[in-house]
This record gives sequence, structure tokens and C-alpha cells, in this order.
Amino acid sequence: MQNNENNLKLNDGDRVAVIGCGPAGSFFSFFLLELAERAGLDVSVDIYDSKDFSKCGPAGCNHCGGIVSESLVQILAAEGINIPTDVAQKGIDSYVLHMDVGSVEIKTSVQEKRIASMFRGAGPLGSKDIKYGSFDRYLQELAMNKGARLITDRVKSIGFDIDLPLVNTSEGPSETYNLLVGAVGVNTSALKLFTGLEFGYQQPQTTKTFICEFFLGIETVKKYFGNSMHVFLLNIPRLEFAALVPKGSNVTMVLLGKEIDRGLVHSLLDTPEVKRCFPPDWDNKSWLCQCFPKINIKSAIKPYTDRVVLIGDCATTKLYKNGIGAAYYTAKAAATTAVFKGISDADFHKHYWPACKTISNDNKIGGVVFTFTRVIQRLRFVRRGVLRMTSGEQQKKGLCPRMSMVLWDTFTGSTPYRNILLRAIYPFFLIRFLFETIIGFVSVKKTIKKPNENIEVDALGHLYKDGEAIINQGEAGDCMYVIQAGKVTVVQLKDGKEVKVAELGEGDFFGEMALFDRKIRSATVRSNGDARVLTVDKKTLLLRIQEDPSMALHIMQTIIGRLRKLTEQVSSMKANDRRDWDGRKK
Ligand SMILES: Cc1cc2nc3c(=O)[nH]c(=O)nc-3n(C[C@H](O)[C@H](O)[C@H](O)COP(=O)(O)OP(=O)(O)OC[C@H]3O[C@@H](n4cnc5c(N)ncnc54)[C@H](O)[C@@H]3O)c2cc1C
Repeated sequence: MQNNENNLKLNDGDRVAVIGCGPAGSFFSFFLLELAERAGLDVSVDIYDSKDFSKCGPAGCNHCGGIVSESLVQILAAEGINIPTDVAQKGIDSYVLHMDVGSVEIKTSVQEKRIASMFRGAGPLGSKDIKYGSFDRYLQELAMNKGARLITDRVKSIGFDIDLPLVNTSEGPSETYNLLVGAVGVNTSALKLFTGLEFGYQQPQTTKTFICEFFLGIETVKKYFGNSMHVFLLNIPRLEFAALVPKGSNVTMVLLGKEIDRGLVHSLLDTPEVKRCFPPDWDNKSWLCQCFPKINIKSAIKPYTDRVVLIGDCATTKLYKNGIGAAYYTAKAAATTAVFKGISDADFHKHYWPACKTISNDNKIGGVVFTFTRVIQRLRFVRRGVLRMTSGEQQKKGLCPRMSMVLWDTFTGSTPYRNILLRAIYPFFLIRFLFETIIGFVSVKKTIKKPNENIEVDALGHLYKDGEAIINQGEAGDCMYVIQAGKVTVVQLKDGKEVKVAELGEGDFFGEMALFDRKIRSATVRSNGDARVLTVDKKTLLLRIQEDPSMALHIMQTIIGRLRKLTEQVSSMKANDRRDWDGRKK
């Protein structure tokens, strides 16, 4: 249907259809409406999805390990999207790596929880205590609060009515739109609808994975799993990666690899490394809910044409990690293109396709990183080297934690694979690793992780006690802060006295000036009552702003709001001064 029109644009009154309301569909709808509003463009969005995310089990679930990565938590906070405590079931602050040669806990380098674990739907089938909200429902509501209309129906066919995309469901009438967005994931037959349009789209290559959920009860999860994600590097054929993710009362088990089947699942569950994580009386066959979803392992070809664009998993995703982050990234790139550049094949090729290519090119490097992990899985003496080096780094403060950083980034999926590879081929890293591996032949000290029973809070961020300083005036700063819960007071020291400048609450941010200049902090910020605060690293944010300048709009809007308020205060002070002065003259 490509008609080589190069100036196809969204105009006032245009209609956009989004098929699929997983993270990609919701992020796209939210950002398209937000950016259109900023650009003064009046468009409407219909999202089609028959899933009800308030339901337990497959009816409300989009099959996932449920980890929102460190970088995504920070970027979303900077976009003004703070994952609520009733959705983020646990803040994760460490990874425990289990191998046959021992286990080691790798702690986050920042003293806070910046990784969230959540359920995509309302929880596993037959959940006993539904205390938490669904992540996909939360994102869906964000889009709907921006004005998107949800049509709870499955799309059966798509086509073109002359040049305009046409959408058909089994129930409603055919609808024509000015832009059609495919956000259908890879676990659907709807991919064929797009290949059937014959504009060159080829769906991504996929492989089968496995997920199951164990109900243990909140106290047992706390006692045995704490706020740690447990990952396994075991020498089991076809298994690339396995993880246990604690979530409220449940633990999710995820297996990635080549064509995972029941036999592979049982051989993993029977290993002493997995059994050790659970209580001694745990029945490893008693899971609540299970599925074998597909995962995208190779990007789609040409996910766009005139008036049509595919985003999220059905276009591209990060290999094995941070799929929700990739859904955000592609959705935002497509929304920005549609609002500011146009909706033709050429526009998507020039402005959207590079975002997909960035991910797929990085996945090629990811392939190399996973080759290294496969070597670790196969060779026992290499596993010993990894264990020794990581344990040493975690025990001795001041030692540059090179191996810990490589493993942390590989497991969390927060950093591009390119950065991980660069870290891993750094000469100092290689020399130390070689040394630890050789020493490993002589003696191996097993450092098996003891369960962490001393958990303070589960939610994201760092908890500051009443009156505790979060930043101090005069200090150098390299991050911004977003308040997740509670209040803070901003004070400035003037003539030796503290003057209260502002009080900020949930969702507000502070310390943003340090992102844009190299000057010292201009004020002290203290917790007013207990407050939970998330930091956003300067590097993470500036890198993202460089890729997507519209990212800075939310921050700019707040800064402008503060400036406006300040100007009003100064003007009213000046007016008061003038009145005093005029009064005195009389
Ligand atoms: C085993 C496994 C573990 C994972 N773990 C993680 C993790 O811990 N963290 C992470 O970030 N990522 C993880 N991922 C990846 C993540 O799940 C995906 O990258 C992410 O869900 C992609 O979002 P999406 O919106 O593109 O697609 P999806 O989430 O699949 O959403 C697609 C939506 O389209 C709808 N749809 C499909 N067909 C139609 C139709 N015909 N009409 C209307 N609606 C339709 C579906 O109902 C669904 O709601 C994991 C994936 C797997 C397989």
C-alpha cells in the first residue's frame, strides 16, 4: 500500500488505532497524546485489546518475568511516570548468582532499590491474596487518562480503504484510521495480519521459554528471597539463563534458552542450587500457573510503511532482557516520529527505524556476551574464577568491582550489551580474571548466600527518616531525585539562617540543576516525615535526552513552572515594596 507520499502528516481530527495494549501499545498511546497536546495537535487514539488485566492467570497476563530494569525505572521517573507501590511488588537491590561451585550476592552500588518486580496482570491463576495491581493495567490507565479510548475486542482483520488503514473486530463495525500501530507482541496470530498487508514486514524470529509461579506466602518469600533476584548459571544443555523473582507472596521462575520443554524445567527444579533457595519442605512441583511464551530473538524486517508502524516485541526487543524497556523505547520513537516528523514510509524509515536498529545492532554484541556466559556455564574452572573474583569484590570495599559490574549489567539488562563487552575486554579485568581462575585451581572457597532476614522496606527508592538530609547546599551533585512517597523540605542558608524555599511531595523532583551545570547544590533538601526517594543518574538521563530530546520536556515544564512561581513572588514583593515606598513618601 506504499504510495510514496512523502508528506503524510497527522492533522487535527485524525484518528489513530493501536492494536495491543501491552507496554508498547500503552506507552505509544500515552506519549502520542502527550506530545500531540504539546504540539497543539488534536488527534484521537483507539486502543484495541481483549485482555482484562484485572484478572488472574492467562486472561489478564502478558507472560513475563516481571522485572522493570534499573534504567527504565529511572527514565520513567524522569518522564513523570512513577510506578506506584501497589504495582511494584518488590524493590530489588541485589542479585544472587548460583552456580554449582557456590553462590554469591552482588549488591547494587547505590544504596537504594531501583529495580521493580511486578505482575503484568493481577497475579497467577488461583492467587490467594491479590494485594497488588497489574503493571499493564497501570500503563493502560495512564494512556486512558491522557484520553485514549479502550476497545475491549480482538482485531480480526486489517486492510486499507483506498489509502486509509481499516480495522475490523468480530463485534464492532469496520473503522478507518489515519495511522495504524501494531503493538501485538509475538504471542499472537495477529502478526500474520501485518505480513498479509504485503509491505515487506517479516515477523521476528522467536524461541519458546518457560514461566511458572510458586505461592510461598509473604513471610517465607521475605525470609528466603529477601529483596534479591536469584539467577542460575548451571551446566544444563539448552538452558541459557534461569531466574527466581520474588513478588509479594509469590516467586516467579523464568527459564530462557533453546526450545525449553518440561524435561528441562524438571531437571532445573531438581538441582541442589534451586532447592537450596526454597524452604526444606517445599514441593517443587506445586506451581500455581505456568506458560511457555515465545520470546523475540531476532528483530522483524521493515516494521513500517505509509500510515502503519509496528512497535515493541513485534518490531524489535533487547535480546533476553529489558523487553519492557525496548517497548518504551520503540513506542516513544514511533510517537515522536508521528507527531513531529510524519507518518509516511520515508518518515518512519528516517526517524523510527534507527531506534530499532540501535537495539538490533546491540543484540549482535549481546550474542557475543551470551557466548561468554555459555563458556562460563560449560567450564567448571571458569565458574570458580567468576565466583572467586565476585566474592572478593563483594567482601573487600574499595576494590574496583569489575566482575560484579559486568554480571550486574548482564543480569539487569539496564546497559547496552556494547558497554558490557567493553568492560569485559578491559585489560585489567582480563588479567584479574585470569589470575582468579588460575588460583581457583588450587583452592575454592564456597560463599553460599545466607537468606537475608533483615529487610527494611520493599518499595522502590531509598527511605529517608524525618529530618534526614538528602542533599546538602554546597555539595557537588551528579543526580536528580524523584519523590516516590512522602514530603521533603527545601531550605537555603542565607546570612547563617535557614530559609524555607519550598515543600515538595510525591512525584516532584529536585536536584535537577546538577544535571545541566557543574555547579554545587544550591539548597539543602530534608525529608519531612519519612520519605522514599529515587535517584536518577546524570549519565542515564543525559544519554536518553541526547537520543530523545522530547524526554527533557517534562523536566523543562516543571522548571518553567517554578520560574513562573518565582517571578510572581518577586513581582508581588516588588509591588509590596512600592506600596511601602509610596506610603512613606506621603
Ligand atoms: C519468559 C519471558 C520473561 C520475560 N521477562 C521480562 C522481564 O523480566 N522484564 C522485561 O522487561 N521484559 C521481559 N520479557 C519481555 C517482555 O515480556 C516483552 O518484551 C514485552 O511484554 C513486550 O511488550 P509489547 O507491548 O510489545 O507486547 P505484549 O506485552 O506481548 O503485548 C501485546 C498485546 O497485544 C494484544 N494483542 C495481540 N493480538 C491482538 C489482537 N489481534 N487484537 C487486539 N489485541 C491484541 C495482547 O492481548 C497483548 O496485550 C520477558 C519475556 C518472556 C517471554
